[in-house]
Amino acid sequence: MPIIPQQRVYDVCVVGSGAGGGMAVYALTQAGADVVLLEAGGPWDNATDSAMLTWPYDSPRRGGSTRERPFGEFDACVGGWSIDGEPYTRAAGTRFDWWRARMVGGRTNHWGRISLRFGPYDFRRKSIDGLGDDWPISYDDLKPYYDRVDRLVGIFGSAENLPNEPDGIFLPPPRPRCYELLVKQAADRLGITCIPSRLSILTRAHNNRPACHYCGQCNRGCRTHSNFSSTNVLIAPALETGRLSLITNAMAREITTNRAGHATGVTYVDKTAGVDRHVRARVVVLAASALESARLLLNSTSPRFPHGLANASGVVGRYITDTTGTDVAGFIPALQGNVPHNEDGVGGMHLYMPWWLDNRTLDFPRGYHIEVWGGRGVPSAGFMGGIHRYPPGGGYGTALKDQYRRLYGTTVGFSGRGEMIPNDDSYCEIDPDAVDRWGIPVLRFHWKWTDHEHRQVKHMQETFRALIAEMGGQVFDPMPGPDRGFGIASGGSIIHELGGVRMGADPTSAVLNAWCQAHDVKNLFVADGGPFVTQADKNPTWTILALAWRTADRITELRRRGDL
Ligand SMILES: Cc1cc2nc3c(=O)[nH]c(=O)nc-3n(C[C@H](O)[C@H](O)[C@H](O)COP(=O)(O)OP(=O)(O)OC[C@H]3O[C@@H](n4cnc5c(N)ncnc54)[C@H](O)[C@@H]3O)c2cc1C
Ligand code: SF4
Repeated sequence: MPIIPQQRVYDVCVVGSGAGGGMAVYALTQAGADVVLLEAGGPWDNATDSAMLTWPYDSPRRGGSTRERPFGEFDACVGGWSIDGEPYTRAAGTRFDWWRARMVGGRTNHWGRISLRFGPYDFRRKSIDGLGDDWPISYDDLKPYYDRVDRLVGIFGSAENLPNEPDGIFLPPPRPRCYELLVKQAADRLGITCIPSRLSILTRAHNNRPACHYCGQCNRGCRTHSNFSSTNVLIAPALETGRLSLITNAMAREITTNRAGHATGVTYVDKTAGVDRHVRARVVVLAASALESARLLLNSTSPRFPHGLANASGVVGRYITDTTGTDVAGFIPALQGNVPHNEDGVGGMHLYMPWWLDNRTLDFPRGYHIEVWGGRGVPSAGFMGGIHRYPPGGGYGTALKDQYRRLYGTTVGFSGRGEMIPNDDSYCEIDPDAVDRWGIPVLRFHWKWTDHEHRQVKHMQETFRALIAEMGGQVFDPMPGPDRGFGIASGGSIIHELGGVRMGADPTSAVLNAWCQAHDVKNLFVADGGPFVTQADKNPTWTILALAWRTADRITELRRRGDL
């Protein structure tokens, strides 16, 4: 297909408008750069597009999921595990699921807003236990940017002074709900650290955004912008500078280069017009999500870069990880027949449990944190997961309605979210036999959990069962055995995929330097989860935001010095 060129040369072209891309365009436009942002999906504005206040009975589906909204029809995020015309493949024997957003703001339109800093140990794990690799930067390098993200975006939490769970600049946390108080008591008795959660939701008015009104529907997008989405908190102010050109429905195909080996811009499919276009820029920043950024590099081949751009090391697509995860839920008799009350709160947990143990006493490295769920959320299709699972549940007519009233809100669940160690058998590459609807070669995944992850997940299962027992509850499902990997979720399914474009001081084993700048192409940067060297036992997005801001500042500094 002929490519339609554009004459204008932007200072920077950013690909992808999620957490990383949003932060990059925010910081770059504030610093005076002319930026073009290519986004594969369509526009979205929570103020007008969110279904925040829609009742389930307003829809015949009662909130059930659709193909492009797997988390329910009112969910804010357009995307899913499979997207029409955009396949990916898996090597034989691989279980891997890839969740992709296709809209302005990416996955920040839905995410759980659990906003955790990586701790000092997380950047130097190899030095501590000999596994994986250390980051080329330390917590102290990133701390000023975590602070800036806290101040700009807003986050609630509590100062706890724990060794590897750095405190931030917090707004006050909401009080625990009724069932969370029971969780806290059980955790205290079992010696498990249990503290207020840390979510990027405003409990006080902040930076011209009003405080949360506790509707509990964050995943639907917040009409008042009281939680964080890239669209409303980062891209909107970037557009207000007049220095950002946002091009939606623009699917990047490859990064172009000149004879000197510098990036010159990006070729993209204009999905609306059905033509290929080329945008020119002095600097290119990839933020299309970790694995898509790896795909873009691998697809940008040329005589000078036959194995893909910035891939002299052969490491693009390697060292990919996802959070380990498993869930256990149970029926808590003490919660039945509770006085009906409103416990909506923020759209997420009010408590969580950071990693609390010492690996020297355990048979697996690294750790996990525990997320808590339950309570009386707005009932929608499939709520309570089927009443027959509750010991006294079932029946017909009035008896059944009474059962629902009595048992509603008696489920408590725990989700483990832990650290996977990168391994040689988990990577992605270009599938030579498959292309998407635009003829762009697609990724093929290879994935393997090791004994480290299986043992960790077994420990999660045992801990969650002990917590439910301590609350006087009954677990719904039996403990999964080794034949089922102790209930470990498939690779990718926790939707925290990272790496593939990792940073490191050594250009033979890393794609990017300590500034997320390609070792091989000096005007090419990556600002999503691709640069991560390790997963940590934390959700990644607060670190993506901090790292992207640091990368944008570096670009500004290099441009000021005339080095880009
Ligand atoms: C259900 C769910 C819950 C989550 N909860 C949490 C949580 O509580 N805490 C946490 O830290 N993280 C959470 N996450 C993960 C979090 O959403 C991601 O870590 C974060 O959004 C990643 O940011 P990103 O910029 O790398 O990618 P994304 O947010 O995915 O943005 C990438 C953007 O690039 C666009 N794009 C992709 N390919 C191309 C292309 N070729 N050309 C142009 N544009 C392209 C996409 O359309 C998308 O808009 C959750 C995710 C999901 C789905
Ligand atoms: S719970 Fe608060 S932040 Fe979340 S959608 Fe409702 S008002 Fe907005």
